[in-house]
Amino acid sequence: MNNTLFKLWISLFILFSISVNSFSQRTCGSTEKMNSYFNKFPAQKIIKQKLEKKILSASSDYSKQSVIIPVVFHVVYNTPEQNISDMQILSQLDVINKDFNRTNTDALYTPSSFNSIVASMQISFCLAQRTPNGNPTNGIIRKQTNQTEFQLYDTLIHYNSLGGSDAWDTDKYLNIWISNIGGGILGWAQYPAAGNINTDGVVIDFRHFGTIGTSVSPYNLGRTTTHELGHYFNLFHVWGDNYCGNDWVNDTPTQEEANFGCKSHPHISCNNSGDMFMNFMDYTDDNCMNSFTIGQRNRVWSSINTYRTGLITSDGCNPVVASTSNASIEIISPEGSINGCNNPIYPKVLIKNKSIDNLYTCLIKYKINSSAYQYQWWNGNLSQNETDSISLSGIAIGGTSHMIEVELLQPNNNQDVDTSDNYAIKLFQTTGGTSVNINLITDNYANETSWYLYDANNNLIDSSGNLSNNSHYIYNHCLENMCYKLVINDTEGDGFCCNYGNGSISVNKVLNNQEIAQLSYFNFSDTINFCISALNNTEIFINKIKVFPNPTNGILFFNSDFFMKDIPIIAQVFDLGGRLVFSEETTEEEIDLSNFENGIYILELQQRNKITKNKIILNKP
Ligand SMILES: [Zn+2]
Repeated sequence: MNNTLFKLWISLFILFSISVNSFSQRTCGSTEKMNSYFNKFPAQKIIKQKLEKKILSASSDYSKQSVIIPVVFHVVYNTPEQNISDMQILSQLDVINKDFNRTNTDALYTPSSFNSIVASMQISFCLAQRTPNGNPTNGIIRKQTNQTEFQLYDTLIHYNSLGGSDAWDTDKYLNIWISNIGGGILGWAQYPAAGNINTDGVVIDFRHFGTIGTSVSPYNLGRTTTHELGHYFNLFHVWGDNYCGNDWVNDTPTQEEANFGCKSHPHISCNNSGDMFMNFMDYTDDNCMNSFTIGQRNRVWSSINTYRTGLITSDGCNPVVASTSNASIEIISPEGSINGCNNPIYPKVLIKNKSIDNLYTCLIKYKINSSAYQYQWWNGNLSQNETDSISLSGIAIGGTSHMIEVELLQPNNNQDVDTSDNYAIKLFQTTGGTSVNINLITDNYANETSWYLYDANNNLIDSSGNLSNNSHYIYNHCLENMCYKLVINDTEGDGFCCNYGNGSISVNKVLNNQEIAQLSYFNFSDTINFCISALNNTEIFINKIKVFPNPTNGILFFNSDFFMKDIPIIAQVFDLGGRLVFSEETTEEEIDLSNFENGIYILELQQRNKITKNKIILNKP
């Protein structure tokens, strides 16, 4: 072969390939793909056959059912041309909405002999308005890929990691992938229960999608997608993929084989009165198909009610409400073990804006132990996922075991759309001391007065400096739990009360100003002994016991191994407002909350000086 002849050969070859492509017949891969799947997984075929029986035996009136199905379009493109426009996608959405509701304008071309069997499928489609995670979306995903084309028998297009695009929850969304499909195949669908859930949906070649842009005649009116959706809803080809085969629909005429191009009615085969070649489940050109039938509608709805019920209940078409308020709160401090002299406690919390809208204000409600609730407004400006840490006003505490509760309310003066993260509790301990004040009032001769504070081991902790007459001194000390000795002297032996002024000395707890020791009358010297001990030895434990199920639908069990046997436990339930809503002395490990409203509660179990607290969620059906 000389060089010129070789070039001619190549040219002819290319010309031939192009002509094959542009005059190719409609080829849909759905049934072949399903058969190949069942060859690989025979057990799945048996499951599918059982469900098929159920579908065929279901005889209901489906004329009143309707649904709007959220669609996510995955545009998987290798070249810029394949990255089809939003407008082209909308043109396709328009076609399927019309075809599935028999509002397509060419419906009037259906031969009148079929008038009694044609039907609306009563199925509409929306661009998904929210992602599976509840975020706003326009329902269109665009992914560039290194794959130049995708093949019928591979699944690459369904996976991010393989150059495709991950499906959204296929129970709740109709996933439609648009890309360059190899092998002259216009598209394929996954029949119900005939493949992996991650590959469920429809794949359409970008040249046969929508009515504008890259769509190429004669498959440029969006009917490839209509046809593939028929398969997705469990319809077979009208010729039953066999010579005079069965499509498991009663009213579609039995026909010999696929019809291509356009036919004129009646086109008789298999002793019928004419093939229904204008049925969307035939292989005719886009401008020659225009109908589904009542039998097909019933099969589709029976299949939806059996296999695809998640589409009916999906919230994918519901837009995410624009002015959502969604914030969360966490406790930064106090936590763990802190010095008991850090009193009052100034809690620190972290708030986070989880809404797409900026957060400008919210109310923080908090308390420690059984204190009254404190309220503090926060004002600022947080964009989505920004946080701010806030120091709250102090609350004085007593005892050694504590619990802080905080709640975030009224983000942007609205209800929070997700209250599950608006409430936090934390346990903390105080150790190492009690804050006390030594109050000293001097008399007219302060220079005669001196004082010394010793601990139980006679270590000097503090003593007086130069004192002024008739003055009030406050000496603050953080004292550990032990006993102390305060010594007061007067060099002249006349004390400091009450002949030459009204001197006095006392020791008070800062927390509540409780007087621990007091003295005002002596001669040369006196000693005050006092001891510091925790006010309250009740211990609080968070989540120490197991509470289940949580969330509960009413009956709640707990494991009381943490407590002593045979001693009653007091079970109390508080709402988030701190109100006691339930109280019971019990030796059982079970309480019944089924009369309460759904929500978050605190369960407190107490036995003697031990209290456990658990957050519980009541979620009745
Ligand atoms: Zn098909």
